[in-house]
Amino acid sequence: MLEIRDLEKRFGDTTALDRISLTIREGEMVGIIGRSGAGKSTLLRSINRLNDPSGGEILWQGETVTGVKGSALRAWQRQCGMIFQQFNLVPRLDVLTNVLMGRLSYRNTAMTVLKLFTREDRAMAIMTLERVEMAAFALQRADTLSGGQQQRVAIARALVQQPSLLLADEPIASLDPRSARRVMEILRAINQEDGITVLCNLHTLDTARQYCDRVVGMRAGSVVYDGAPDGLDNAT
Ligand code: ADP
Ligand code: ADP
Repeated sequence: MLEIRDLEKRFGDTTALDRISLTIREGEMVGIIGRSGAGKSTLLRSINRLNDPSGGEILWQGETVTGVKGSALRAWQRQCGMIFQQFNLVPRLDVLTNVLMGRLSYRNTAMTVLKLFTREDRAMAIMTLERVEMAAFALQRADTLSGGQQQRVAIARALVQQPSLLLADEPIASLDPRSARRVMEILRAINQEDGITVLCNLHTLDTARQYCDRVVGMRAGSVVYDGAPDGLDNAT
């Protein structure tokens, strides 16, 4: 269980998160919706500690996330797979190497040379690429792929970390509708088959309704709805 208690994040005069409290159960797929500037990214970035909150606390399985440092912080970040709107692959590296980058974080080592990778790492990377139907592209440079293909590679990179949580920040906002559906179906399959908890920022309610167990609506740094995807019509 992920417990967010009175979480607050300020940037100067801007209150990006205004004392938010939320509980996410293991195995849930939660869609977070709200306009640009509502605080969705800041929430995900606070969970995996790309941001340090200004107040409040986050707990995973009853243990603090907001208080950890050093190797405990790296261990937590390893458990949080992250997917971004712009994919964030290394453009000039091939697909397999991009996925292996996720292994570095799994093994908790700083990257020095790519020779660090073991046969097991490679086998796992290939297996994960098969999962997202991208194994045929393993040796192709990332910058030769379409957006939808890059996002599938980014999902594979997150999965080789063996995360407990997958945090997806607008994963389909840059994709055409067909690629977007495919990415959402993969995220849902990972959630249902592997039991990985998924938190997904989305900008359309329809998508959340179609793929998520639960919807959190945010506005101006606050949670304005939290419940079943069907109940939202009247709330916003
Ligand atoms: P969303 O993801 O819902 O679009 P964000 O979390 O990106 O919202 O932003 C919430 C608010 O915090 C916005 O007003 C945004 O401009 C502000 N904000 C986010 N990150 C920063 C930052 N690094 N520095 C200053 N302001 C920020
Ligand atoms: P989103 O699409 O999630 O709203 P943005 O484009 O608002 O993201 O923000 C992209 C990056 O810029 C993030 O790292 C965010 O923290 C930062 N950012 C957002 N708003 C501001 C701001 N007002 N000042 C400085 N950085 C910001």
